[in-house]
Order: sequence, then C-alpha cells, then structure tokens
Amino acid sequence: MDAETAQTHPFQAEVAQLLHLMVHSVYSETEIFLRELISNASDACDRLRYEAISAPDLLAADPKLAIRIRPDQEAATLTIADNGIGMDRQELIDNLGTVARSGTRAFMTKLAEAAKDKREVKDGASLIGQFGVGFYSAFMVADRIAVTSRRAGSAETWVWRSEGGAGFEIAPASPEEAARVPRGTEITLHLKDDAKRYLDPHEIERIVRTYSDHILFPIELVAKSDDGKEPEPRQVNTASAIWQRSKSELKPEDYTQAYHAIAGAFDDPAMTLHYRAEGRQSYAVLLFAPSQAPFDLFDPARKAHVKLYVRRVYITDDAGLLPSYLRFMRGVVDSEDLPLNISREMLQNNPQVALMRKALTGRVLTELETLAKDEKGESFAKIWQAFGAVIKEGLYEDFERREQLLGLARFTTAVGTMRSLKQYVADFKPNQTEIYYLAGESLDRLKANPKLEAARARGIEVLLLTDPVDAFWTTLAREYDGKPLKSLSQGEVDFGLVPVIDQPAKAEETPASTAVDDAVVIAAVKAALGERVSDVRASQRLTDSAACLVAGGTGPDRELERLLARSSRGGGTTPILELNMRHPLVRALGAAKTGARQDDVADISALLFEQAQILDGEVPGDPAAFAARLNRLVVRGLG
Ligand code: ADP
Ligand code: MG
Repeated sequence: MDAETAQTHPFQAEVAQLLHLMVHSVYSETEIFLRELISNASDACDRLRYEAISAPDLLAADPKLAIRIRPDQEAATLTIADNGIGMDRQELIDNLGTVARSGTRAFMTKLAEAAKDKREVKDGASLIGQFGVGFYSAFMVADRIAVTSRRAGSAETWVWRSEGGAGFEIAPASPEEAARVPRGTEITLHLKDDAKRYLDPHEIERIVRTYSDHILFPIELVAKSDDGKEPEPRQVNTASAIWQRSKSELKPEDYTQAYHAIAGAFDDPAMTLHYRAEGRQSYAVLLFAPSQAPFDLFDPARKAHVKLYVRRVYITDDAGLLPSYLRFMRGVVDSEDLPLNISREMLQNNPQVALMRKALTGRVLTELETLAKDEKGESFAKIWQAFGAVIKEGLYEDFERREQLLGLARFTTAVGTMRSLKQYVADFKPNQTEIYYLAGESLDRLKANPKLEAARARGIEVLLLTDPVDAFWTTLAREYDGKPLKSLSQGEVDFGLVPVIDQPAKAEETPASTAVDDAVVIAAVKAALGERVSDVRASQRLTDSAACLVAGGTGPDRELERLLARSSRGGGTTPILELNMRHPLVRALGAAKTGARQDDVADISALLFEQAQILDGEVPGDPAAFAARLNRLVVRGLG
C-alpha cells in the first residue's frame, strides 16, 4: 500500500443504507448528534485512562483528559476533539464503516417502517439511542465529515473522510493535521445549511448541559465570546460523578439526566437506586431500571450494562455486577477498595466482586419489591411489562432467590393482568389446593383453549403464560408458598372437590352415559388412533369442547414439548387424548360404533385428535388428509 495516497473504501452495505436514511429522514431532534459524539469522546478518554494504568507513558505527555468543541463561523464547521485513546488506520476503517454493528440492521428496519408509513420519525432520536448508531447520527447535520485520529502510543495520524454516500476515504494526515492531533481524535463536521444553529455557542452550551452535563471529563467550548474576545477554552459541564453526591442535593431531573447520559437512553427511568455501601467494602451505587425495553434484550450476547469504576476511574461495563436476569439494569458502581490495575479477566474470579454482586442483586430485588407494593405506582407495571420475561429467567437460574422472584412475578389470568401469586392464593376457590397455569403462544389462543373450560366453570383462576421462558421455569419452580404449580396441559387434573358455579344442572342436562358406553367409545377411539396417542381417557378438563391433548403426568408440559421439538432437542412424547364424554360428537361415536358406520369411527376419531391439535395451535401432521376427512364427514352427514 502506498501510504502517501488516499484510499477509498465502500461502506458496508447496511451502513450505506443507514446513512441514506439518516440523510433523508426528517428528524425533529437532530441535536442529539452532539451527545453521541461527546459520548464517544468520553469513552475514548475512559479507555485511555484504563490502558494507562498499566502503561503510564501513554498519558504522560498530555495527562489532562478533556473534550473540546470548537465552532468556526466562517468555515461553517463544528469540531469535536478529544485526547483519548484515538484510532489507528484499521480501527478507523472498521469502526466507522465496514464492520456491521449489531444494532444497525435492527435500527434500519424500524426506521424504514416508519418512513414507509410516511410517519414523521418523531422517535428517531430515541431509536438512535436504543440502537447505538451513534457516530452516523452526525450525518443528520453534516454533509461532509473528517475524522483525524492518532492512536495513543502510535506515531501515525490518519484521516477518515466521507460525504455519507457509498464510501469513505482514508489518507495519512498532512503535517498540519498531524500537529493538531498529537493524540486522540478530532471530528470536523461541515454543517448543512439548515444546521448552522449548531455554530452558536449558546446553543452548544445548552445542548451540552442538557445531555452531557455528567460526563466525567471537562467539556470545553472554544468560541469567541459575545464581546468578540479571542477564544478561550471554557468548561461548560459540571463533570462531577453524580453518584458520589448525596441524595439530598439531587432532584429527580438530575437523576433523569444522569440516566440519559450514563445509559445513552431517552426514556425516563422507571426505578432509581442510589446509595453508598459502607462496611467490609465501600462503594457508591447508582442504578436505573429503564421504562422501555431495548431492541436487543433477548440477544444472548447481551450482558448487564453496569459500569464499574474504581475511585472514579472507569474500568469496564463487563464486570458481571448483576446476574443476567437483571441485564436490563443500567448505571454505575464505583468501588473504593478494588485495585485500580485490576484486569477484566481478574474481575471474574474476584471475591470482592462476587460479594458486591450478591449485595447488589439483593438490593435491586428489594427495591423492585418496594416498588411493586406501591399500589398506585405505575412504575413496577412498566418494568414488569418491559422486562418480566427477563426477570423470569431468574426463576431457573437463581435457585436461592426463586421464592423471592416468584413473589415479584406478575401474571395475566381471566381475572386480570398484573396478578401476583399472593393474590392468586388469597383468591383460591373452596377446596382448591393447587395453582393452575396454561402455557401457549398468545393470550387469545390460550383464552380459547378448551383445557380452561372446567376451571372456568368453577371460577378457578388460571395463569396464562405466553413467554417462551415460561415453559422452562415452570419445570423447576414447582410450588409457591407450599402450593403446587400445575399445568393444565399435563397429567390428570381433578377439580372434583371445587364446586361448579352457576350451572349446577349442567351435568343432568344430557342423560348420563353409562360407564360401559364410555369404555366402548374410548376403546374404539384408541384402536382407531393407534400409535398417535399413548392413551385415551375421559376428561375432567372439558365442559364444552369435544377433546384435548395433554402430556403424561411426569414428562414435560405440552408447550415445553413444542418448544423443545422446535429447537430439535427432542421429538416430543406421544400425547394423551382426553374426551368430553358428554359432547355430541363423542356420543355420536358410541352410536356409530354400535351401528353399521365403521368408517365414521375412524374419521371421527382422527378429527377429534386433529381438532385438539389445532386448538393447541399446532398444525395436523397431514393437513390434506385432515381436510379430506372433514369434507367426507360433512358430505356424508352424521344422521
Ligand atoms: P458506539 O459508541 O455505540 O460503539 P458509535 O457509532 O458511536 O458506536 O461509534 C463507533 C465506534 O467508533 C466506537 O465503538 C469506537 O470504537 C469508535 N469511535 C468513535 N468515536 C471515537 C473517538 N472519539 N475516539 C476513539 N474511537 C472512537
Ligand atoms: Mg457512541
């Protein structure tokens, strides 16, 4: 490669599309580009300070880390510079254009949807925050960007240039450029005509205070003052570690702002936890629960983003300070005791970190409990709606806290939403001893599921579980408060002792079939279905529907089986078919069996099985055969 000439590189396809959308979408709040660039500069300073712990030389020449913003009215440029870690040539190429970043694709899908509907992308800004497309947001306000950067410890300075089209250019810095950036990164934005207001020092100062006040490094504005004096760098942010300040001097707005700055979010925190632990270890804690779920909540690679600081120095956001089922929490933990030179690897086995993790987990759960008790507060409901499915992972991951987590869990039942198990147990029907649940894909499906019929007839509340994780925790959490949890898709249920409400005559409406008749029908269906079922029996679950499928008493629940089959971890066991012996179709079988219509027996049996599959949200194994059978029966008539 000839180091003297500029090289052009195409943007990775998704980045190019993203830029196109950035340039052409109309945002109401373009000002967040500054927050994004400042946050990158601050990250760069954090990273240098961390690397300098083991290599002090990196910092020595210019030890005061700072971020500088310089508007130039004549040139119509805005420059954001930091003396942080910087980027070498390859890092410029990778970080600013070629390596797909996880959020990019998801962000674009959302944005494109909004653009297609011609909806004004009001929440574009919040999307940018959520999806982490930070740097590219600068193309909302600039039609040309130059990034001059020198990696700490390197002798070379490189310039990345782009007009936001298909690609960018990389070239070695000229001598002046190299002299301007002895370490770190300088980003020069050539502002678009409609973005010239960002040259106004007052406007810049307002934006910095709004979004970036709590950035730990000084943010200096270098601009002519109103009386035209020559520019003097002037610090415009507080640059204080808000978590070190006392609760009494902080207002709710301060916390919201700190949350926005620390978490890079735009929503309001649904819960704020700020305290100082003293004792065996001392550390300051400032944690937030967002009120909105991020797009990558279920990405297996997603970890808890709690930043670990040691005596105000940022170490990592990957210290595992909270278990993965609390990975939605954001914030900072600042330790007074850990050694500054602790490596990220050492953190994993550090006993002090383990103790912190335990204490923090306990505090977060207690705080959630307090929030949940506050009847009028919507906060807990918001958290549960956004993150309940994640918290439930704790039910199988954190055995020690299972009972506590079950106490926090909220459920949808026929009675209402956000029902706790405590409320459920308090509302037990006479003679009810078990907690019933039914798992499935959607609430609508579940509500129509015949397995609920007998419970409904007795007014028994059933937890309707629709999160994939539900199929898993229910296999381990088998009781709450000493009351067994029981799936309505599995084993035998016996509501016998719980009285039926409102319709005591129902049982007498149709003349009771005899046990002998029932046995004949069951045997006939069983013979007709052969290996498709492991058993056929009379149902206690059904009042209106004809049939349902359940799993055996000891195996997994039907829903779990389906999930396992989908992830091809098991073929699923053979189900049991339960029949409603009072249902006309089932009764017709008795008649068909004794009459001459043997064909009907086979077809009706198969239909009973297949309709039970459909009611569970499955597709019959042979849909064409199912349709043919149905048509045959209809044409033939059952008379
Ligand atoms: P994010 O900050 O979420 O990683 P960005 O799009 O804001 O995403 O930035 C992309 C990457 O570019 C950063 O992860 C970082 O590696 C690099 N980068 C951006 N700005 C700077 C800077 N001022 N100094 C050093 N590296 C930077
Ligand atoms: Mg960023």
